[in-house]
Amino acid sequence: MKEVLSDKQRLESLYHGRFELIKPRGDRMEEECGIIGAFDPDGDSVTDILYYGLYALQHRGQEAAGIATSDGENITYYKNQGLVTECFEDDERYKYLKDGHIGIGHVRYSTAGDKSVVNAQPLFVHFKGGDLALAHNGNLINAECIRSRLEEQGYIHQTNVDTEVIAGLVARRASTLTIEKSLEETSKDLRGSYALVVLEKDKLIAMRDPLGIRPLALGRVGNVYVVASESCVFDTLNGELIRDLHPGEILTIDKDGLHSTRTQVPLESKLCVFEFVYFARSDSIIDGVSVYKAREEAGRRLALRDNVKADIVVGVPDSAFPAAIGYSKQSGIPFIEGLVKNRYVGRTFIQPGQQKRERSVKIKLNALKRNVQGKRIVLVDDSIVRGTTSKKIVEMLKSAGALEVHMRISSPVVTNPCYFGIDIAESKQLIGSGHNVEEIRKAIGADSLEYLTIEDLMKTVEGSSCGFCTGCFTGNYPMNVDTESKYCPF
Ligand code: AMP
Repeated sequence: MKEVLSDKQRLESLYHGRFELIKPRGDRMEEECGIIGAFDPDGDSVTDILYYGLYALQHRGQEAAGIATSDGENITYYKNQGLVTECFEDDERYKYLKDGHIGIGHVRYSTAGDKSVVNAQPLFVHFKGGDLALAHNGNLINAECIRSRLEEQGYIHQTNVDTEVIAGLVARRASTLTIEKSLEETSKDLRGSYALVVLEKDKLIAMRDPLGIRPLALGRVGNVYVVASESCVFDTLNGELIRDLHPGEILTIDKDGLHSTRTQVPLESKLCVFEFVYFARSDSIIDGVSVYKAREEAGRRLALRDNVKADIVVGVPDSAFPAAIGYSKQSGIPFIEGLVKNRYVGRTFIQPGQQKRERSVKIKLNALKRNVQGKRIVLVDDSIVRGTTSKKIVEMLKSAGALEVHMRISSPVVTNPCYFGIDIAESKQLIGSGHNVEEIRKAIGADSLEYLTIEDLMKTVEGSSCGFCTGCFTGNYPMNVDTESKYCPF
């Protein structure tokens, strides 16, 4: 017999808990994400903190968002596709989360394939020991291997996100161990990068992978403890950064305060250097280094090695502005806006299909004819990945009357894909893999092209409390990707 639900019941089943539109698993997805967690010891709602915190992390993922909260007894969650504001625009959905004084949130940025809401996070799981919600930033290179072994053993999966593999492994152990201990044991099975926030009914747990590849920091907003991918969250909420989580740290926040344990970690950590190049917000401080300062220094170092004659320095908005300013300060060539960005377009880089990507560059950026006409331009961007953006921008500036365009990139040549959570395409799509700088210059139509050296890049992050993964620039990954991606613990 078909069940007839009242409008209110339908809303509740849709938004208050366990009911979602399930679509089949599609292609595997690479992800770049942002995560947050909050615990209010006074028992007040943390929903607004999570919501505005996710808003501050929107640059890390624009495809889907979600929040899970607990009132100490029950976990409630809501997730959907779209920007944070779109996802939670309907108060009906938001209000169910309001009771929670502990919670986690996630913004997601996937690149291809199935965009079903079922792949959005937090992921909610029910297991023998209770309920859990998890949110994850990073990429497990052995997830597929573990997943198929589990499926051979009769497990079923609903999503194609790595988080489900982590959840499965944690839940297997958690009927006999605490979640913290399960996480510690599970981390021995996992290969790749993971910053995690986990919500149990009465506690928040945050974990950073043993190499510290993805960032995760602890802060305080009033008396509420907050963990977040980036420190810009604490500033946004009028709070303060306390410290970064250590690589391999498992931090529990509950009514008794903070408790920290650490898994076995390698001697040197491997924070992703691309966070500083492009991904993180420039007002964040990661592992002791200001992202803005690193970018400005990259621009300064580019200029130090340069003797090009030019009239103006133009930065590609917004991520290359600090480097363009650094270049301008060092060279004495004035920094002038030469490109205007449509602020309502997100990080369009992700668009599947080359034609779409090319069109989206044009929709996103336009040349400021008045400022560039008749000028010799130093054009600073933070990176060239496929080369689509640079080619289009050079074309744009030239058709707006620029006399010369000298492209300067505030990072080294991207020669290798990323396996650890940054969407850097497979080798054959990378213009820097298989082409030398002169060939790239020709392909993008610039009058000259220079990149930052890897040595200079490492100088920009000097003073940090960690080591770095430079895999996309050097091919030196923090682990052997071939063998470790086949690692299955059982
Ligand atoms: P491309 O057109 O592929 O060369 O893209 C390079 C542009 O995309 C640069 O302007 C960067 O600011 C930006 N970008 C670089 N890496 C990424 C990434 N992983 N995700 C999104 N955008 C990126």
